[in-house]
Amino acid sequence: MKDLYAIIGNPVAHSLSPRVHPLFAAATGQELSYERVLAPLDGFVETVRAFRASGARGCNITVPFKVEAFQLATTHSARALQAGAANTLRFENDSIYADNTDGVGLVNDLENNLDFNLVGSRILLLGAGGAARGVLGPLLARSPKCIVIVNRTAARADELVAGFGNAGPVSASTFAGLTDKQFDLIINSTSASLSNKSLPLPAGVFAENALAYEMLYGKGTTPFMALAQSAGARSADGLGMLVEQAAEAFLVWRGVRPTTAAVLAALRAETGAETGTK
Ligand code: NDP
Repeated sequence: MKDLYAIIGNPVAHSLSPRVHPLFAAATGQELSYERVLAPLDGFVETVRAFRASGARGCNITVPFKVEAFQLATTHSARALQAGAANTLRFENDSIYADNTDGVGLVNDLENNLDFNLVGSRILLLGAGGAARGVLGPLLARSPKCIVIVNRTAARADELVAGFGNAGPVSASTFAGLTDKQFDLIINSTSASLSNKSLPLPAGVFAENALAYEMLYGKGTTPFMALAQSAGARSADGLGMLVEQAAEAFLVWRGVRPTTAAVLAALRAETGAETGTK
């Protein structure tokens, strides 16, 4: 029987992880199968336990379970500890190891695939959920000029700032507080675009040559990307982040890091999703 992995989330039907990992496996000569598992919103832990009991070796975690996944694990990587959220679990004999590869995935996509220089940049991070937690530390490690966090529930942005304030120049704002402010990189880590909802973002936030990064992928031009394009900014979806974070998760599970360019190009051709467009 092949080693079994899955992406667990709710919703999970949109995830392309079940396409990515078999392509990595083929490219690296590994044997595995990878499923998509929908967990009830109040049944994440039971779902993981049942999946593990079926003989599985590990899983990826998506909305809205990354913090629960972190709490379920018994050992954690440094980057998972920093985030307080996990997107990758590895099942071991008596323990569950948690990692968070979202941040390195985003940074690799921005710097290597999209040619964006994070050093000294002004970053606006929209959202304060599991994905925002995962990317904040790795973004700060690239020495941006500042990172401002805005979230619908302001208290969660404040909580993130309190947790990361010692790691660099990070602060919280409200959407109204963004008037007259400009950013070089605006990252949408909210799940608003999943339901095609737009965010109350002033058009003036996009600096000249700004990049608007939508973490979601596979939805075509989202309201956030459309706003950025109408303001003259470059926009990209999160397909590159998906592939880059998956490569790091594959390394955690299999001990080998696949190259990403061919897989990203194949998925880009399949989905027709957008990157780097104005
Ligand atoms: P969570 O459920 O943990 O957090 C959701 C966030 O979105 C919260 O900040 C929430 O705000 C905000 N939000 C939800 N709906 C709205 C809305 N209508 N208006 C404004 N804010 C809203 O999800 P994750 O952080 O795990 O994931 C967020 C998104 O990032 C998803 O779309 C996911 O698919 C994508 N993602 C993509 C990855 C990739 O590899 N490309 C990797 C990780 C995530 P509040 O606190 O007020 O509820």
